[in-house]
Amino acid sequence: MNATETYQNLTRKLREISVLGSCAAVLGWDEQTYMPPKGGTFRGEQVSLLAQMCHEQFTAPEIGEALSTLEGSDLLSDPDSIPAANIRELRRSYNRATKIPSRLVAELARVTTLAQGEWRNAREKNDFSLFQPWLEQVLNLKREEAESVGYTEHRYDALLDEYEPGMTAARLKQMFAELAQNLVPIIQAIQNSKCKPQGEILHRPYPIELQKTFAEQAARQIGFDFEAGRLDVTAHPFCTGIGPGDCRITTRYNANFFNESFFGVLHEAGHGLYEQGLLAEQFGLPCGSACSLGIHESQSRFWENQVGRSHRYWQMLFPKAQAHFSPVLADVRLDDFYFAINEVKPSFIRVEADEATYNLHIILRFELELALLSGDLAVKDLPQVWRDRFTQLFGITPPDDKLGCLQDIHWSMGGIGYFPTYTLGNLYSAQLMNAAQQQIVNLNELILQGDFVPLREWLRENIHIHGKRYTADGLIEKAVGEPPQSRAFIDYLRSKYQPLYQF
Ligand code: ZN
Repeated sequence: MNATETYQNLTRKLREISVLGSCAAVLGWDEQTYMPPKGGTFRGEQVSLLAQMCHEQFTAPEIGEALSTLEGSDLLSDPDSIPAANIRELRRSYNRATKIPSRLVAELARVTTLAQGEWRNAREKNDFSLFQPWLEQVLNLKREEAESVGYTEHRYDALLDEYEPGMTAARLKQMFAELAQNLVPIIQAIQNSKCKPQGEILHRPYPIELQKTFAEQAARQIGFDFEAGRLDVTAHPFCTGIGPGDCRITTRYNANFFNESFFGVLHEAGHGLYEQGLLAEQFGLPCGSACSLGIHESQSRFWENQVGRSHRYWQMLFPKAQAHFSPVLADVRLDDFYFAINEVKPSFIRVEADEATYNLHIILRFELELALLSGDLAVKDLPQVWRDRFTQLFGITPPDDKLGCLQDIHWSMGGIGYFPTYTLGNLYSAQLMNAAQQQIVNLNELILQGDFVPLREWLRENIHIHGKRYTADGLIEKAVGEPPQSRAFIDYLRSKYQPLYQF
Protein backbone atom coordinates (compact mmCIF):
# COMPACT_ATOMS: atom_id res chain seq x y z
CA MET A 1 0.00 0.00 0.00
CA ASN A 2 1.43 3.41 -0.93
CA ALA A 3 1.20 6.53 1.24
CA THR A 4 -1.81 7.93 -0.61
CA GLU A 5 -3.76 4.70 -0.05
CA THR A 6 -2.73 4.59 3.60
CA TYR A 7 -3.89 8.18 3.96
CA GLN A 8 -7.22 7.44 2.30
CA ASN A 9 -7.81 4.40 4.52
CA LEU A 10 -6.96 6.40 7.60
CA THR A 11 -9.26 9.28 6.69
CA ARG A 12 -12.10 6.82 5.95
CA LYS A 13 -11.62 5.23 9.36
CA LEU A 14 -11.58 8.61 11.12
CA ARG A 15 -14.71 9.73 9.36
CA GLU A 16 -16.42 6.58 10.66
CA ILE A 17 -15.27 7.26 14.22
CA SER A 18 -16.55 10.83 13.96
CA VAL A 19 -19.92 9.70 12.60
CA LEU A 20 -20.16 7.51 15.69
CA GLY A 21 -19.17 10.47 17.87
CA SER A 22 -21.78 12.66 16.18
CA CYS A 23 -24.48 10.19 17.31
CA ALA A 24 -23.39 10.86 20.88
CA ALA A 25 -23.65 14.59 20.13
CA VAL A 26 -27.30 14.23 19.03
CA LEU A 27 -28.03 12.24 22.19
CA GLY A 28 -26.31 14.90 24.30
CA TRP A 29 -28.37 17.65 22.68
CA ASP A 30 -31.56 15.66 23.17
CA GLU A 31 -30.71 15.08 26.82
CA GLN A 32 -30.61 18.85 27.42
CA THR A 33 -33.67 19.72 25.34
CA TYR A 34 -36.43 17.12 24.97
CA MET A 35 -35.50 13.89 26.79
CA PRO A 36 -38.05 12.96 29.47
CA PRO A 37 -36.58 12.96 33.00
CA LYS A 38 -36.81 9.18 33.41
CA GLY A 39 -34.65 8.63 30.33
CA GLY A 40 -31.49 9.77 32.10
CA THR A 41 -30.10 6.45 33.25
CA PHE A 42 -30.54 4.74 29.90
CA ARG A 43 -29.13 7.80 28.11
CA GLY A 44 -26.03 7.49 30.29
CA GLU A 45 -25.65 3.90 29.08
CA GLN A 46 -26.03 4.91 25.42
CA VAL A 47 -23.56 7.76 25.63
CA SER A 48 -20.91 5.86 27.54
CA LEU A 49 -21.07 2.91 25.10
CA LEU A 50 -20.56 5.27 22.16
CA ALA A 51 -17.71 7.07 23.95
CA GLN A 52 -16.03 3.76 24.67
CA MET A 53 -16.40 2.59 21.06
CA CYS A 54 -14.93 5.86 19.76
CA HIS A 55 -12.02 5.69 22.20
CA GLU A 56 -11.22 2.05 21.37
CA GLN A 57 -11.31 2.65 17.64
CA PHE A 58 -9.23 5.80 17.81
CA THR A 59 -6.53 4.31 20.05
CA ALA A 60 -6.24 1.07 18.04
CA PRO A 61 -2.63 0.20 17.11
CA GLU A 62 -3.54 0.34 13.37
CA ILE A 63 -4.08 4.08 13.69
CA GLY A 64 -0.64 4.55 15.23
CA GLU A 65 0.96 2.33 12.56
CA ALA A 66 -0.73 4.27 9.75
CA LEU A 67 0.49 7.54 11.26
CA SER A 68 4.06 6.23 11.52
CA THR A 69 3.98 5.13 7.87
CA LEU A 70 2.63 8.51 6.76
CA GLU A 71 5.16 10.44 8.84
CA GLY A 72 7.93 8.91 6.73
CA SER A 73 6.19 9.78 3.45
CA ASP A 74 6.38 12.81 1.19
CA LEU A 75 2.82 13.79 2.18
CA LEU A 76 4.60 15.84 4.83
CA SER A 77 6.86 17.73 2.43
CA ASP A 78 4.67 20.83 2.60
CA PRO A 79 3.95 21.18 6.34
CA ASP A 80 1.01 23.54 5.70
CA SER A 81 -0.78 21.23 3.27
CA ILE A 82 -4.07 19.73 4.43
CA PRO A 83 -2.76 16.12 4.60
CA ALA A 84 0.34 17.21 6.52
CA ALA A 85 -1.74 19.20 9.00
CA ASN A 86 -4.16 16.31 9.43
CA ILE A 87 -1.29 13.89 10.11
CA ARG A 88 0.40 16.29 12.56
CA GLU A 89 -2.81 16.92 14.52
CA LEU A 90 -3.86 13.26 14.49
CA ARG A 91 -0.47 12.35 15.93
CA ARG A 92 -0.97 14.92 18.67
CA SER A 93 -4.37 13.61 19.72
CA TYR A 94 -3.38 9.97 19.21
CA ASN A 95 -0.41 10.41 21.54
CA ARG A 96 -2.58 12.17 24.09
CA ALA A 97 -5.23 9.47 23.94
CA THR A 98 -2.75 6.59 24.18
CA LYS A 99 -0.36 8.05 26.74
CA ILE A 100 -3.02 8.38 29.44
CA PRO A 101 -3.43 4.90 30.98
CA SER A 102 -6.98 3.53 30.70
CA ARG A 103 -7.05 3.10 34.49
CA LEU A 104 -6.57 6.87 34.82
CA VAL A 105 -9.23 7.63 32.16
CA ALA A 106 -11.75 5.48 34.04
CA GLU A 107 -10.79 6.98 37.41
CA LEU A 108 -11.11 10.53 36.06
CA ALA A 109 -14.55 9.75 34.64
CA ARG A 110 -15.67 8.21 37.93
CA VAL A 111 -14.28 10.92 40.23
CA THR A 112 -15.41 13.90 38.13
CA THR A 113 -18.96 12.50 37.84
CA LEU A 114 -19.16 12.24 41.63
CA ALA A 115 -17.33 15.54 42.16
CA GLN A 116 -19.91 17.38 40.05
CA GLY A 117 -22.69 16.11 42.29
CA GLU A 118 -20.72 17.06 45.41
CA TRP A 119 -19.97 20.49 43.94
CA ARG A 120 -23.69 21.09 43.34
CA ASN A 121 -24.46 20.06 46.88
CA ALA A 122 -21.65 22.19 48.36
CA ARG A 123 -22.76 25.22 46.34
CA GLU A 124 -26.36 24.78 47.41
CA LYS A 125 -25.37 24.51 51.07
CA ASN A 126 -22.73 27.21 50.63
CA ASP A 127 -20.21 24.91 52.32
CA PHE A 128 -16.80 24.58 50.67
CA SER A 129 -15.63 21.86 53.08
CA LEU A 130 -18.03 19.41 51.36
CA PHE A 131 -16.30 19.98 48.02
CA GLN A 132 -12.72 20.23 49.30
CA PRO A 133 -11.82 16.49 49.36
CA TRP A 134 -13.26 16.07 45.85
CA LEU A 135 -11.31 18.96 44.41
CA GLU A 136 -8.18 17.48 46.00
CA GLN A 137 -8.85 14.17 44.26
CA VAL A 138 -9.54 15.84 40.93
CA LEU A 139 -6.28 17.80 41.17
CA ASN A 140 -4.29 14.69 41.99
CA LEU A 141 -5.71 12.92 38.95
CA LYS A 142 -5.08 15.92 36.71
CA ARG A 143 -1.47 16.06 37.92
CA GLU A 144 -1.15 12.41 37.01
CA GLU A 145 -2.70 13.11 33.62
CA ALA A 146 -0.21 15.94 32.98
CA GLU A 147 2.69 13.68 33.94
CA SER A 148 1.56 10.94 31.56
CA VAL A 149 1.03 13.36 28.68
CA GLY A 150 4.34 15.12 29.33
CA TYR A 151 5.42 18.76 29.04
CA THR A 152 8.59 20.77 28.71
CA GLU A 153 8.11 23.72 31.04
CA HIS A 154 5.04 23.75 33.26
CA ARG A 155 2.74 20.90 34.20
CA TYR A 156 -0.18 23.21 33.38
CA ASP A 157 0.91 23.26 29.72
CA ALA A 158 -0.01 19.59 29.35
CA LEU A 159 -3.59 20.35 30.44
CA LEU A 160 -3.91 23.61 28.52
CA ASP A 161 -2.86 21.71 25.41
CA GLU A 162 -6.18 19.88 25.39
CA TYR A 163 -8.12 23.14 24.94
CA GLU A 164 -5.66 25.56 23.33
CA PRO A 165 -2.95 23.54 21.57
CA GLY A 166 0.36 25.36 21.49
CA MET A 167 -0.47 27.88 24.22
CA THR A 168 1.68 27.82 27.36
CA ALA A 169 1.34 29.01 30.94
CA ALA A 170 4.36 31.27 30.46
CA ARG A 171 2.76 33.10 27.52
CA LEU A 172 -0.56 33.38 29.28
CA LYS A 173 1.13 34.81 32.36
CA GLN A 174 2.78 37.49 30.30
CA MET A 175 -0.34 38.31 28.24
CA PHE A 176 -2.67 38.32 31.23
CA ALA A 177 -0.32 40.45 33.36
CA GLU A 178 -0.31 43.09 30.64
CA LEU A 179 -4.07 42.82 30.35
CA ALA A 180 -4.67 43.21 34.10
CA GLN A 181 -2.30 46.15 34.29
CA ASN A 182 -4.35 48.01 31.68
CA LEU A 183 -7.79 46.79 32.67
CA VAL A 184 -7.75 47.72 36.35
CA PRO A 185 -7.29 51.50 35.73
CA ILE A 186 -10.05 51.50 33.06
CA ILE A 187 -12.45 49.78 35.44
CA GLN A 188 -11.49 52.17 38.25
CA ALA A 189 -12.08 55.20 36.02
CA ILE A 190 -15.50 53.80 35.13
CA GLN A 191 -16.37 53.24 38.77
CA ASN A 192 -15.35 56.79 39.64
CA SER A 193 -17.36 58.23 36.78
CA LYS A 194 -20.56 60.19 37.45
CA CYS A 195 -22.09 58.90 34.21
CA LYS A 196 -24.34 55.92 34.79
CA PRO A 197 -26.58 54.11 32.30
CA GLN A 198 -30.30 53.61 32.91
CA GLY A 199 -30.17 49.88 33.52
CA GLU A 200 -33.93 49.83 34.03
CA ILE A 201 -34.44 50.01 30.24
CA LEU A 202 -33.33 46.39 29.93
CA HIS A 203 -35.42 45.13 32.84
CA ARG A 204 -38.84 45.92 31.44
CA PRO A 205 -41.35 43.25 30.42
CA TYR A 206 -40.14 41.73 27.12
CA PRO A 207 -42.66 39.01 26.13
CA ILE A 208 -40.84 35.73 25.55
CA GLU A 209 -42.55 35.03 22.20
CA LEU A 210 -41.35 38.40 20.91
CA GLN A 211 -37.84 37.82 22.27
CA LYS A 212 -37.75 34.52 20.44
CA THR A 213 -38.72 35.92 17.02
CA PHE A 214 -36.43 38.93 17.46
CA ALA A 215 -33.40 36.83 18.40
CA GLU A 216 -34.08 34.38 15.57
CA GLN A 217 -34.21 37.22 13.06
CA ALA A 218 -30.92 38.58 14.41
CA ALA A 219 -29.26 35.15 14.15
CA ARG A 220 -30.59 34.73 10.61
CA GLN A 221 -29.41 38.20 9.67
CA ILE A 222 -25.80 37.50 10.63
CA GLY A 223 -25.99 34.33 8.56
CA PHE A 224 -26.90 31.45 10.87
CA ASP A 225 -28.49 28.93 8.52
CA PHE A 226 -31.73 27.62 10.03
CA GLU A 227 -31.95 25.03 7.26
CA ALA A 228 -28.76 23.59 8.76
CA GLY A 229 -29.45 24.37 12.40
CA ARG A 230 -32.00 24.83 15.18
CA LEU A 231 -32.56 27.08 18.16
CA ASP A 232 -34.10 25.49 21.26
CA VAL A 233 -34.45 26.24 24.97
CA THR A 234 -32.18 24.79 27.70
CA ALA A 235 -31.25 25.68 31.28
CA HIS A 236 -27.64 26.30 30.20
CA PRO A 237 -27.19 27.66 26.66
CA PHE A 238 -24.74 25.90 24.33
CA CYS A 239 -23.89 25.21 20.71
CA THR A 240 -23.18 21.76 19.39
CA GLY A 241 -22.08 20.99 15.85
CA ILE A 242 -23.49 17.57 15.03
CA GLY A 243 -21.95 17.34 11.57
CA PRO A 244 -22.20 18.87 8.09
CA GLY A 245 -25.59 20.54 7.71
CA ASP A 246 -26.61 20.17 11.35
CA CYS A 247 -25.72 22.56 14.15
CA ARG A 248 -27.86 23.08 17.25
CA ILE A 249 -27.85 26.20 19.42
CA THR A 250 -29.86 26.88 22.56
CA THR A 251 -30.88 29.79 24.76
CA ARG A 252 -32.95 30.62 27.83
CA TYR A 253 -35.48 33.41 28.17
CA ASN A 254 -36.04 35.87 30.97
CA ALA A 255 -39.33 37.72 30.51
CA ASN A 256 -37.99 40.76 32.38
CA PHE A 257 -34.46 41.07 31.04
CA PHE A 258 -33.57 41.81 27.43
CA ASN A 259 -29.87 40.85 27.47
CA GLU A 260 -29.97 37.27 28.62
CA SER A 261 -31.52 35.70 25.58
CA PHE A 262 -30.66 38.25 22.88
CA PHE A 263 -26.92 38.42 23.47
CA GLY A 264 -26.91 34.73 24.37
CA VAL A 265 -28.35 33.89 20.95
CA LEU A 266 -25.85 36.13 19.14
CA HIS A 267 -23.09 34.40 21.12
CA GLU A 268 -24.23 30.87 20.32
CA ALA A 269 -25.00 31.81 16.70
CA GLY A 270 -21.38 33.00 16.47
CA HIS A 271 -20.25 29.53 17.59
CA GLY A 272 -22.80 28.10 15.15
CA LEU A 273 -21.47 30.10 12.19
CA TYR A 274 -18.05 28.63 12.90
CA GLU A 275 -19.44 25.08 12.92
CA GLN A 276 -21.46 25.77 9.76
CA GLY A 277 -18.35 27.21 8.11
CA LEU A 278 -16.10 24.17 8.62
CA LEU A 279 -15.22 22.23 5.47
CA ALA A 280 -17.79 19.44 5.08
CA GLU A 281 -15.41 17.26 3.06
CA GLN A 282 -12.92 17.36 5.94
CA PHE A 283 -15.53 16.19 8.48
CA GLY A 284 -13.95 13.84 11.02
CA LEU A 285 -10.45 15.14 10.31
CA PRO A 286 -8.52 17.86 12.13
CA CYS A 287 -8.79 20.26 9.17
CA GLY A 288 -12.58 19.94 9.40
CA SER A 289 -12.67 20.57 13.18
CA ALA A 290 -12.53 23.77 15.22
CA CYS A 291 -8.99 25.04 15.79
CA SER A 292 -9.18 25.52 19.57
CA LEU A 293 -11.59 26.60 22.29
CA GLY A 294 -10.09 30.10 22.24
CA ILE A 295 -10.70 30.44 18.51
CA HIS A 296 -14.24 29.08 18.95
CA GLU A 297 -14.88 31.64 21.66
CA SER A 298 -13.43 34.40 19.48
CA GLN A 299 -16.23 33.70 16.99
CA SER A 300 -19.01 33.89 19.57
CA ARG A 301 -17.64 37.03 21.22
CA PHE A 302 -17.07 38.60 17.84
CA TRP A 303 -20.79 38.55 17.03
CA GLU A 304 -22.01 39.07 20.59
CA ASN A 305 -19.71 42.00 21.46
CA GLN A 306 -17.60 43.36 18.63
CA VAL A 307 -20.69 43.51 16.40
CA GLY A 308 -23.66 43.04 18.74
CA ARG A 309 -22.68 45.64 21.35
CA SER A 310 -21.49 48.23 18.85
CA HIS A 311 -23.22 51.55 18.26
CA ARG A 312 -23.44 50.93 14.52
CA TYR A 313 -25.25 47.66 14.99
CA TRP A 314 -27.91 49.32 17.13
CA GLN A 315 -28.23 52.27 14.77
CA MET A 316 -29.41 49.61 12.35
CA LEU A 317 -31.40 47.44 14.77
CA PHE A 318 -32.82 49.77 17.45
CA PRO A 319 -35.73 51.15 15.35
CA LYS A 320 -36.65 47.54 14.56
CA ALA A 321 -36.48 46.64 18.27
CA GLN A 322 -38.74 49.60 19.11
CA ALA A 323 -41.31 48.43 16.57
CA HIS A 324 -41.01 44.76 17.53
CA PHE A 325 -41.43 45.28 21.29
CA SER A 326 -43.79 48.27 20.95
CA PRO A 327 -44.55 50.12 23.19
CA VAL A 328 -41.86 48.90 25.66
CA LEU A 329 -39.01 50.95 24.12
CA ALA A 330 -41.11 53.84 22.82
CA ASP A 331 -39.68 56.39 25.28
CA VAL A 332 -36.05 55.19 24.97
CA ARG A 333 -33.34 56.93 22.95
CA LEU A 334 -30.83 54.88 20.96
CA ASP A 335 -27.89 56.29 22.93
CA ASP A 336 -29.46 55.39 26.26
CA PHE A 337 -30.14 51.87 25.08
CA TYR A 338 -26.58 51.60 23.79
CA PHE A 339 -25.17 52.79 27.14
CA ALA A 340 -27.40 50.34 29.04
CA ILE A 341 -26.20 47.30 27.06
CA ASN A 342 -22.61 48.40 27.67
CA GLU A 343 -22.78 48.97 31.40
CA VAL A 344 -19.62 48.07 33.34
CA LYS A 345 -20.09 47.05 36.94
CA PRO A 346 -17.88 44.78 39.06
CA SER A 347 -19.90 41.77 40.23
CA PHE A 348 -19.21 38.45 41.90
CA ILE A 349 -20.50 36.06 39.24
CA ARG A 350 -18.38 35.47 36.13
CA VAL A 351 -21.20 34.51 33.76
CA GLU A 352 -23.05 37.75 34.53
CA ALA A 353 -20.00 39.98 34.06
CA ASP A 354 -19.64 42.73 31.45
CA GLU A 355 -17.00 42.80 28.71
CA ALA A 356 -14.41 44.63 30.81
CA THR A 357 -14.62 42.98 34.23
CA TYR A 358 -15.16 39.52 32.71
CA ASN A 359 -11.47 39.13 32.08
CA LEU A 360 -10.53 39.84 35.69
CA HIS A 361 -12.67 36.84 36.63
CA ILE A 362 -10.59 34.73 34.25
CA ILE A 363 -7.25 36.11 35.42
CA LEU A 364 -8.20 35.25 39.00
CA ARG A 365 -9.11 31.67 38.08
CA PHE A 366 -5.98 31.26 35.96
CA GLU A 367 -3.70 32.37 38.80
CA LEU A 368 -5.46 30.14 41.30
CA GLU A 369 -5.58 26.98 39.18
CA LEU A 370 -1.92 27.38 38.37
CA ALA A 371 -1.11 27.58 42.10
CA LEU A 372 -3.46 24.68 42.93
CA LEU A 373 -1.91 22.45 40.29
CA SER A 374 1.66 23.18 41.34
CA GLY A 375 0.72 22.67 44.99
CA ASP A 376 1.70 26.22 46.00
CA LEU A 377 -1.89 26.72 47.07
CA ALA A 378 -3.55 24.10 49.31
CA VAL A 379 -7.18 23.38 48.43
CA LYS A 380 -8.28 24.16 51.98
CA ASP A 381 -6.94 27.71 51.63
CA LEU A 382 -8.74 28.35 48.33
CA PRO A 383 -11.81 30.21 49.73
CA GLN A 384 -9.72 32.75 51.64
CA VAL A 385 -7.18 33.29 48.88
CA TRP A 386 -10.05 33.71 46.41
CA ARG A 387 -11.63 36.43 48.58
CA ASP A 388 -8.32 38.27 49.07
CA ARG A 389 -7.34 38.27 45.42
CA PHE A 390 -10.88 39.09 44.30
CA THR A 391 -10.86 42.14 46.57
CA GLN A 392 -7.54 43.30 45.12
CA LEU A 393 -8.74 42.94 41.54
CA PHE A 394 -12.35 44.17 41.85
CA GLY A 395 -12.44 46.35 44.95
CA ILE A 396 -15.35 44.33 46.36
CA THR A 397 -15.34 41.18 48.53
CA PRO A 398 -17.59 38.15 47.94
CA PRO A 399 -19.74 37.66 51.07
CA ASP A 400 -19.68 33.85 50.74
CA ASP A 401 -18.25 30.97 48.67
CA LYS A 402 -21.39 30.56 46.60
CA LEU A 403 -20.54 33.98 45.17
CA GLY A 404 -16.85 33.04 45.32
CA CYS A 405 -14.92 29.86 44.60
CA LEU A 406 -18.00 27.60 44.43
CA GLN A 407 -19.70 29.35 41.49
CA ASP A 408 -18.27 27.47 38.48
CA ILE A 409 -18.69 23.82 37.52
CA HIS A 410 -15.38 23.60 35.57
CA TRP A 411 -12.97 22.37 38.25
CA SER A 412 -15.37 19.64 39.42
CA MET A 413 -15.40 18.36 35.82
CA GLY A 414 -11.61 18.32 35.69
CA GLY A 415 -11.56 21.37 33.37
CA ILE A 416 -8.25 22.76 34.59
CA GLY A 417 -6.81 24.99 31.86
CA TYR A 418 -10.21 25.72 30.34
CA PHE A 419 -10.89 29.21 31.76
CA PRO A 420 -8.10 31.07 29.92
CA THR A 421 -9.69 30.19 26.56
CA TYR A 422 -12.59 32.57 27.32
CA THR A 423 -10.27 35.55 27.63
CA LEU A 424 -8.18 34.41 24.68
CA GLY A 425 -11.45 34.51 22.71
CA ASN A 426 -11.96 38.14 23.74
CA LEU A 427 -8.41 39.08 22.77
CA TYR A 428 -8.57 37.29 19.41
CA SER A 429 -11.99 38.81 18.60
CA ALA A 430 -10.68 42.37 18.98
CA GLN A 431 -7.69 41.61 16.75
CA LEU A 432 -10.00 40.04 14.17
CA MET A 433 -12.32 43.05 14.12
CA ASN A 434 -9.38 45.40 13.56
CA ALA A 435 -8.20 43.30 10.64
CA ALA A 436 -11.73 43.03 9.19
CA GLN A 437 -12.06 46.83 9.39
CA GLN A 438 -8.86 47.18 7.39
CA GLN A 439 -9.63 44.53 4.82
CA ILE A 440 -13.35 44.93 4.10
CA VAL A 441 -14.25 48.05 2.15
CA ASN A 442 -16.94 50.12 3.88
CA LEU A 443 -17.52 47.58 6.65
CA ASN A 444 -19.17 50.20 8.87
CA GLU A 445 -21.56 51.17 6.08
CA LEU A 446 -22.44 47.50 5.52
CA ILE A 447 -23.24 47.01 9.22
CA LEU A 448 -25.47 50.09 9.15
CA GLN A 449 -27.35 48.50 6.25
CA GLY A 450 -27.63 45.16 8.05
CA ASP A 451 -25.52 43.45 5.37
CA PHE A 452 -23.30 40.92 7.12
CA VAL A 453 -22.41 38.75 4.15
CA PRO A 454 -18.93 40.23 3.50
CA LEU A 455 -18.03 40.07 7.20
CA ARG A 456 -19.19 36.49 7.56
CA GLU A 457 -17.36 35.50 4.39
CA TRP A 458 -14.21 37.18 5.70
CA LEU A 459 -14.40 35.09 8.91
CA ARG A 460 -15.16 32.01 6.89
CA GLU A 461 -12.13 32.45 4.67
CA ASN A 462 -9.73 33.53 7.38
CA ILE A 463 -10.87 31.30 10.25
CA HIS A 464 -13.62 28.75 9.61
CA ILE A 465 -12.41 26.83 6.57
CA HIS A 466 -8.95 26.23 8.04
CA GLY A 467 -10.07 24.07 10.96
CA LYS A 468 -6.92 22.87 12.70
CA ARG A 469 -4.68 23.45 9.67
CA TYR A 470 -2.73 26.02 11.70
CA THR A 471 -2.30 26.37 15.46
CA ALA A 472 -4.37 29.10 17.10
CA ASP A 473 -1.58 31.65 17.15
CA GLY A 474 -0.54 30.74 13.62
CA LEU A 475 -4.13 31.21 12.46
CA ILE A 476 -4.47 34.59 14.19
CA GLU A 477 -1.14 35.76 12.85
CA LYS A 478 -2.13 34.73 9.33
CA ALA A 479 -5.51 36.48 9.59
CA VAL A 480 -4.47 39.72 11.30
CA GLY A 481 -0.73 40.01 10.59
CA GLU A 482 0.51 39.75 14.18
CA PRO A 483 0.52 37.13 16.94
CA PRO A 484 -2.09 37.10 19.73
CA GLN A 485 -1.74 40.03 22.13
CA SER A 486 -3.92 42.09 24.47
CA ARG A 487 -3.36 45.58 23.03
CA ALA A 488 -6.18 45.48 20.46
CA PHE A 489 -8.68 44.45 23.10
CA ILE A 490 -7.54 47.15 25.55
CA ASP A 491 -7.75 49.81 22.81
CA TYR A 492 -11.21 48.55 21.92
CA LEU A 493 -12.45 48.83 25.52
CA ARG A 494 -10.93 52.27 25.98
CA SER A 495 -12.43 53.66 22.81
CA LYS A 496 -15.83 52.25 23.69
CA TYR A 497 -15.98 53.32 27.34
CA GLN A 498 -14.22 56.71 27.30
CA PRO A 499 -17.10 58.48 25.54
CA LEU A 500 -19.73 56.65 27.61
CA TYR A 501 -18.19 57.20 31.01
CA GLN A 502 -16.32 60.42 30.10
CA PHE A 503 -12.93 59.63 31.62
ZN1 ZN B 1 -19.07 30.54 24.15
